[in-house]
Parts: sequence; structure tokens; C-alpha cells
Amino acid sequence: VLRGGAVFPRAPDPVRAQAVGIAGGRIVFVGSDEDARAWTGPRTRAIDLRGAMVLPGFHDAHAHPADGGLRLARCDLTGLASVERVLEAVRAYAEGHPSEPWIEGEGWDLPLFPDANPHRSLLDAIVSGRPVYLVAADGHSAWANTRALAIAGITRETPDPPAGRIERDPATGEPTGTLREDAMALVSRRLPPTSREERLEGLRRGLAFAARHGITSLLDAGADGETLEAYRSLEREGALPVRVVAAIPVRAAEGIAAVSRLVELRRRFRTRLLRPIGAKIHLDGVIESRTAALLEPYADRPGERGGARFEPAALDALVAPLAREGFQLHFHAIGDRAVRMALDSIERVRLRPGSRGVRPHLAHLELVDPADVARFARLGAVANFQPLWAYADPYITELTNPVLGPERSSRLYPIGSLVRAGARVAFGSDWPVTSIDPLEGIQVAVTRRGPADGAGPAWLPDERVDLPTALAGYGASAAFALHQERETGTIEPGKAADLVVLDRNLFELPAERIHEARVLLTLFEGRETYRDPAFDRGLPSKGTRGPR
Ligand SMILES: [Zn+2]
Repeated sequence: VLRGGAVFPRAPDPVRAQAVGIAGGRIVFVGSDEDARAWTGPRTRAIDLRGAMVLPGFHDAHAHPADGGLRLARCDLTGLASVERVLEAVRAYAEGHPSEPWIEGEGWDLPLFPDANPHRSLLDAIVSGRPVYLVAADGHSAWANTRALAIAGITRETPDPPAGRIERDPATGEPTGTLREDAMALVSRRLPPTSREERLEGLRRGLAFAARHGITSLLDAGADGETLEAYRSLEREGALPVRVVAAIPVRAAEGIAAVSRLVELRRRFRTRLLRPIGAKIHLDGVIESRTAALLEPYADRPGERGGARFEPAALDALVAPLAREGFQLHFHAIGDRAVRMALDSIERVRLRPGSRGVRPHLAHLELVDPADVARFARLGAVANFQPLWAYADPYITELTNPVLGPERSSRLYPIGSLVRAGARVAFGSDWPVTSIDPLEGIQVAVTRRGPADGAGPAWLPDERVDLPTALAGYGASAAFALHQERETGTIEPGKAADLVVLDRNLFELPAERIHEARVLLTLFEGRETYRDPAFDRGLPSKGTRGPR
């Protein structure tokens, strides 16, 4: 029994309780401390919350925990604020790992470099004898040194792959070392393979990191057979701290053969906690590197609208049988043309037998044409946002606004518009692209300001949402999006005891301080998957939050 808390059983509803009773991994009681006595016997473990907030465990509706866990062990460049600090981190990593044949790293930020285009010579000056391959924070660009390009055989003569770009010196045509989208694979396929053991440990580390942030359910937005196998191993050990919906990536070149492959993977790996029921379809790239598919040209490149990875007919040919097989379509859609393609495709296949009820997702949704906003609710498409991206950071001010122009820049990440239009809005982190912390995402959804920016004017204030809506994005709405609203998303008898305990009540905090709240306890089916040391020293912790 958890008692003495501020329990919010369902986010948009202000009804509050004090106590939650748990038995056999399920919620058996929600109510007052007084009534909880009836549920408390000599063998009951009672936890006194001293006013701490209890919410349904957070759902992350778009994350890559296996990649995140691997990144935690590699040369991690996340959040480094200058080119000098990035280079210093690469140098330190190379010196600390003298026997690794490749220097692999991730997480550098595009706005650190002019035109988001770092040069190989910067890396050559630090490491020239070994290949270096560093994936950008957004996963859509990579930066390689000269040695890595040589191993990959990339020269002036190498053509760009169909859905990729080798950045080149405008004067000489020589590759500069920056690779976009599918051009990344020219180098990445030369990397030493990740061993089964590394993958398993990476996933274990990634999921522990999720549990530490209060997450009890997640949608893995790109799990191949090897990753599904790692999940299954963890579940067999009893070491899976979350329930997982997995979306299996589908490649355009694969065509219709993808359908039987996905059916087979789903059959092989489906277990109680792991449901590989999704198909991940990558429709476009990102605006920052002008690879997102736009309806109208980029403002600074007349005639250039970015590339979609599918022709509409080819997309329909894939989407229709996947939907008929009951797969949840999970589209990566950033540009307004990619968004429209996904909605058009959903609309065309929606009425076919068997394809109802798959709850398709459109993830990211940076630019949505106003004509498409109302279609989400009508088509039953989930708007899957990464709310932490929705503030005016340098990705927006330096790399996005100039290439879109003022009109399109005035309606980015239209979360508020989609909520008002009745769409089901679910939230996710896209970790390790950006922070996994749901509290940061909740804060930015409410404030449209950077997590550490304090109080002040919001960026595109009409697109803010209120706190209950933001909580539902990580709670009940996400549970629906993951096809598990009968199991999780609210705190009520009969549901799984997936809960998060926070050290303070978010409703009593100024919005710009939501990110300071700490997770004290994460319960997954009644089991502790994370416990803050402060929880044992006395509750709730009063100190400020340290680095996590
Ligand atoms: Zn993603």
C-alpha cells in the first residue's frame, strides 16, 4: 500500500486520491488513507509517501533504447556546446580506447558547424591512423575522418545514393566528411558488427535508464530481429523493466517482401511484455539538412523540395497489406509533404477489410499543412510528438527558420492545433536523439521554452498545451496509442501497477520548474525498477536535482 500521497489517477481529471493498494502486480484499490486501512494487514508492506505525487507510469511513445544504451558506452557527444569540447571528447575517447579499431561516437549537434557541415580535417588533426565515425544527435547526418572515407571508398567520383548526400567542397568536389541519410551507410556498413552480448548489455543499460526516468512502457520505434531477440532474452531473465511495443523498420527497397518478414518476426518474438506489432516507415529526413519532404520548395533553394523515400503508389502497396495484417503503421514524417503522404495513404487503405483499428502513428510532425490538421482525428491517426523539440533552440533559429521562411516557421510543431482539432496526441522522447526525460518534455509542451530557460515569452504560444494534456501525452493517450489502454495509462483497480512517484506535485510548481522534479520510485507491475536514494533518507527529497 502506498499512502499519504497526492495520487492523480487519470491526468485530465482533477480527482485526487491519497492511497493506492497493490497485490500481485495489479492495482486493487485507489482512495483515501482511511479506506486503505481495510486493505492493510500484518503482511502488507506500507510505504508512506509524505505528500509525494503519484502518477501512472510514464509511456514513451517513440524511443530507441537499444541505441541509447549503446551510446552511453561509446564516445558520447550529447549536449557538448562547442566544437572544441566535441573535439576534446573525441581525443579523450581515442586515447582511452587505444585498441579499438574504429572510433565510434554519437550525439554532436548540427548547429555547432557552419551549414551543419563539419569537415573531416578537424578529426584528422586528432585521429588520423584510425577511422572515426560520429553520428549527429538527430541520427540523420554523420561526420567521418579521411581514413574512414578511404575505407569506405568514398571519393570525388562516388555518386550520391538515391536517398542520401555526400557533402562536397563546392570548389574541388572533394567529399568534406559529412554524410546525410543513406550516404551514412557507405561508411557505417564497414563498422565492426555489434556483438549479441554488446547489444543485450546496451539494451539492459538503456532500459534501466528509462526506468530511472519513471518510464514503464515504451514504443521502440525501430527494432530489428536482433533487438527483438535482446528484448526476449531480458524478459526470459525476468529483467524487462517496461512493457514494449516494437515497430520493425521497413525499407523502401524491400517492397512487398517486407510484409511476410514482419509477420514472421511478430510470430517469433511476441511475448507477454513484448509486442512487435508495429511497422516503422521512414518517409523523409529532417529540415535542418534539407532532407525533409516539403510541399513547397526550401526558401533558400528554389525548386528543391527534399526527397520522400517512397512513391505514393509504392507506399500504398506496402501500407495496405501491413494494415490488413494488423500492423500498426509508424511513420517518420517531418516535412508537410511527408505528413500528407502518410495521411493520404492511411485514407486510401482505411476502408479495406481488416485494416481498421491499427491506430497508425505519424511521428515528429515538425511541419503540418493547416489543411491536414483536422484529418488526424478523422482518420484515427495518432499525432506522435516529441515535445522537447518544440522551443526556439539553434536547430530552429539557425537551421530551420532560414530554410523555411517566416510563414512556415510560424507554425512548427503544432501540438496545440492538433489537440484542439481532436487528434489523439501521444508524446515520446526519440532518445537518444534527445533527452529521455519525460519531465523535460512535459515542461516544454506547457511552456514552449527550453527546459533551463526560466519564465518568459513562449515560442508560438498558441501551440502550448496545459499540464493535464501533457501528462496524458505520456499517460492515457500514449497507452491508447500503444494498444494497452485497458492495462495502463490510469490508476484504477484491475490495471497493472505501473506507477511513478515524484518528489513534488507538478500542479503546485511554476511550469518553468517542472524539470526540477525528481523521480523517487518507479514501479512496474508492483516491482521497483528504480528507487532514488533520497527515497530511503526520508521523503520527499527537498534538495535540488543533481545531474542525471
Ligand atoms: Zn526515432
